[in-house]
This record gives sequence, structure tokens and C-alpha cells, in this order.
Amino acid sequence: MATVTAEIIDGNKISDTIREELKAEIKKLKQEQGITPGLAVILVGDNPASQVYVRNKNRACHKIGIYSEQHNFPGDITEAELLDLIQTLNSDPKIDGILLQLPLPDFINENRVLTTILPAKDVDGFHPINLGKLFIGTPGFKPCTPFGIQKMLSYSGIKTDGAHVVVVGRSNIVGKPVAGILMQKGIEANATVTICHSHTRDLPSITRQADILIAAIGIPEFIKGDMVKQGAVVIDVGINRVDDAKSERGYRITGDVDFASVAAKCRAISPVPGGVGPMTISMLLYNTVQSARQRMAR
Ligand code: NDP
Repeated sequence: MATVTAEIIDGNKISDTIREELKAEIKKLKQEQGITPGLAVILVGDNPASQVYVRNKNRACHKIGIYSEQHNFPGDITEAELLDLIQTLNSDPKIDGILLQLPLPDFINENRVLTTILPAKDVDGFHPINLGKLFIGTPGFKPCTPFGIQKMLSYSGIKTDGAHVVVVGRSNIVGKPVAGILMQKGIEANATVTICHSHTRDLPSITRQADILIAAIGIPEFIKGDMVKQGAVVIDVGINRVDDAKSERGYRITGDVDFASVAAKCRAISPVPGGVGPMTISMLLYNTVQSARQRMAR
């Protein structure tokens, strides 16, 4: 087995730093303006993975002093009921951020529900207005996972300016927005970005050109060592459940990158778990605090 010489980009450690900074900012907001940032989390149905995500988000809020409230609904809620709740939260002054945990049941029009969230409270950054702002480079909420990737690189001292970033995956929640964020003119950006997807021809010939390779595919251990340039930086976004009889739970969580073969070759790599995952939650907290700062202007 090859030796791992790569630097491990520790998402938990970077997250701790960001959360400490936010905790101090929240304390100041309370003392100076009497504002406690507030987040409302909406969960529909009983998907166990979603329940875990929501619980983790609520815990993270409490730990740093964000007020959070959870709205749980059975899977047979009507779209009208959901839209009603969002309208109520849109006008609730103590709520700065509204997070709708996806996926929703098939009979609910996800797009209609997401676009009902006030863009000024869309701390997940999924509203077309915020995505549009991201692409034209004006201030708005950036989606948490791509934003977390940008911060992860920056806190690790990895320069994106002039770097060739190759993103594998073009989803609206990861691939497209991370490309949009890193190609912007400005600090922590200025990258030359290539996006790949399932129709890309000769993918390895492109991934091997990457100074920074971002894998957001959803296929366990898809990126192998021979697809990566020596000395590249690799960010693994994937969260995949793989059956594992040796694990007590019967499964293990793995990324989209074959850690052993890639880590033997690259300069730095984010692990799964403990990489992009905690950064995603940190940027949700970050966006909620930024929204609270703008509360008076709403
Ligand atoms: P999607 O399924 O929406 O998108 C996957 C992308 O990968 C698509 O663009 C698809 O191409 C591309 N793809 C699939 N197969 C191939 C292939 N053989 N070659 C090249 N490209 C391929 O996934 P998401 O973006 O939502 O999520 C990606 C991963 O990230 C998942 O494991 C998910 O669990 C994880 N994730 C992690 C988060 C975190 O907080 N860490 C947050 C969000 C997601 P095409 O468009 O052509 O179909």
C-alpha cells in the first residue's frame, strides 16, 4: 500500500475556527444591537438521513448562540400548508434564515416551495435570485457546500488565483455553484474552471490537468490515483453509504475519491468524513449570522 504524504485538509478543525469567530460575532450582535440570529428548519417526512442532518444543524446553532426552531411535518403535508408556513416565517422578525431540508416528497413542487422563501432569508443560497447574484458577482447568500469549499481552500492557504480548478459534477447545489464561486473576479477566486459531467469525453485526461480537483459525483471512490496530477489538491464532496459487514452499523460513509491511491499522489486532500461535511454546516451558521446583521434593513 502506498504511503500517504498529503496534507489532510481538516474540515472539523477549520469549522471550529469559523464557529469560534461566529460565536464572538453573535455575542457582539446581542450586546450592541440586542439581536439574536434566528434560524427556522423545516423537515418533511421521516427520512433518517434528513433527521440526522437537521439534528446536527440545530445542535450547531445552539452551541454558538443562534436561536433555532424546528418545524417537523408528516410526509403527507400539502404544498399549500408548507407554503403557508414559509410565508409566516418570511415575515417573522426573529427569523433570519429559513432552511428547507431536501428532498421533499415527489408530489410537492420543490422549485415552487424553494422560491417562496424570501431571498433575504434564503441562507441555503438555493433561490434563483441568490444563484443569479453569485454568477454576476454581487453580494447574496452563497450555497453552503460550495461556499464551504471556498473557505476550506482559503483557510488552508491554498491559492485559487490562476489555478486550474476541475469540478466533476454539475448539480445546482454543488458543481455549478462551486464553479461559479471560484471563477469570480476577486480574492479567494480568480480560478480557471472546467466543469465535467457524465457526458464528458476522456474524463481522466481532464482531471489530470487540475491543480485543484473537486469531486461531487455521488459515486463511491470514483476518482482514482491515476486520474490525478502529482501535487494536486483534491476536495472530496461525496457522502456515500457503502455496505460494510465489519462496521457495527452495517455500512460506512465514503467519499467520491479513492483516498488511498489519491492521497499517495496529491499535495493536500479533504477526507470523508471530516472534510466538506462540517464546512457545509459552518457556512449555514455564517449565512444566518450575516442575515441577522441585515435584519434592520429588511
Ligand atoms: P448529483 O447526483 O445531483 O450530481 C452528480 C453529478 O455527477 C452530475 O452532474 C453527474 O453528471 C455527475 N456524474 C455522474 N456520474 C459521472 C461520471 N461517470 N463521470 C462524470 N460525472 C458523473 O449529486 P450532488 O451534486 O447533489 O452530490 C454529489 C455528492 O456530494 C453526493 O455524494 C452527495 O451526497 C454529496 N454532497 C455532500 C454535501 C456535503 O455537505 N458534504 C452536500 C451536498 C452533496 P450528469 O449531470 O451528466 O448526470
